[in-house]
Amino acid sequence: MTSTLLRGRTLSFVSWPETIDDHSAWRYEEDGGLLIRDGRIIAAGAYTQVEKQAGEAAKRIDHRPHLLLPGFIDAHVHFPQMQVIASYGAELLDWLNTFTFPEETKFSNAQHGRRIARLFLDEMVRHGTTTVAAYCSVHKASAEAFFAESHDRNMLNIAGKVMMDRNAPDGVLDTPQSGYDDSKALIAQWHGKGRQLYAITPRFAITSSPQQMEMAGALCREHPGLHMQTHLSENHAEIAFTRELYPWSRDYTDVYEHYGLLGKKSLFGHCIHLSEREADALSDSGSVAVFCPTSNLFLGSGLFDYQRFRRRDKPIRIAAATDVGGGTNYSMLRTMDEGYKVIAQNGEKLNPFQSFWQMTRGNAEALSVAEKIGTLDEGTDADIVVLDARATPAMRLRMETAETLAQELFLLQTLGDDRAVREVYVAGRAAKTDMAI
Ligand SMILES: [Zn+2]
Repeated sequence: MTSTLLRGRTLSFVSWPETIDDHSAWRYEEDGGLLIRDGRIIAAGAYTQVEKQAGEAAKRIDHRPHLLLPGFIDAHVHFPQMQVIASYGAELLDWLNTFTFPEETKFSNAQHGRRIARLFLDEMVRHGTTTVAAYCSVHKASAEAFFAESHDRNMLNIAGKVMMDRNAPDGVLDTPQSGYDDSKALIAQWHGKGRQLYAITPRFAITSSPQQMEMAGALCREHPGLHMQTHLSENHAEIAFTRELYPWSRDYTDVYEHYGLLGKKSLFGHCIHLSEREADALSDSGSVAVFCPTSNLFLGSGLFDYQRFRRRDKPIRIAAATDVGGGTNYSMLRTMDEGYKVIAQNGEKLNPFQSFWQMTRGNAEALSVAEKIGTLDEGTDADIVVLDARATPAMRLRMETAETLAQELFLLQTLGDDRAVREVYVAGRAAKTDMAI
């Protein structure tokens, strides 16, 4: 069996970097090596040590002076919204009704779904992202298209058919029964096939009737190992409408709580305007709040209180995400740059190590997949991004005065995008291609 030996400056996280000097939180090798076989990292460390295990036949690829990191992870994104991104002038509910729902009706056509799934995964990989938690459209065919494309590329992706049975055009509605049946069939067909993972995906409380929420809860009970993903507390009009639709609920979170949708594998997009009770409920259940800074800014939804959520007596688990097409960029570098600014608006800072922890190990832990991805640890899947901090003239110039790894990472986050991504490995295979529309 042939193996591949990558050489470069390797960086991988061990734990949350409390401060910029918390060297115990990461492993950095100025001259690092990664030995890959059968899609996995089988040795990692100083190049001279790893090289001894490689053998003559190993294919050697030298990425010096670039950085090798675990592939980025995007914890919330809508693959059918590639032609919704950059739609002008609306807040959440108008944006959904005017742009998003009409666009998603097109995904009843399997061929369209397959094309966009292909272009979507091309684009994610091009930006250094090797795993996403994706919403498909309501149509079963859209999830089939996504999983088929993801499986062909041997990517570890989490996805689900959206369940929605009201408050949207007919072309994007299912019924409580068909939503349940289609989800069930997709789970049987795709969950655990290769690296594919299924997420039960009620879009949000507004577009699911109480009967459908019951069905979503039933799916979670019947498949306790699965992820559940939905939206929570993004925008004031959304919160008010949810209260009207579920008048008995204590608050928005209570709606999901009532139907048994909170838990360690539950991913809640946005979580901007939570009360203390709601934050406690998320914390007590181990649920994950997903920070989507470019989307929250673009739609004018509000500022996610990242550091307060981490610091409170009952901390909330946090993931970060692009939320394309409400989000405005496919890049996790661009996302965390905007994230930094949002956190700054709350009078806090996110240091560059924390930021890169979040894009890699932090998101892997939040998605409960850290034993497989998100680090460069031996035995994990070889999903790797190669970053070039001198990718553009402006970056090159700024790098002349960068003296530390922290400064280089912050520069990558602040000025970097897809141009800084030199190569991407998915399960050990070089996977970066230019999007061929
Ligand atoms: Zn979303």
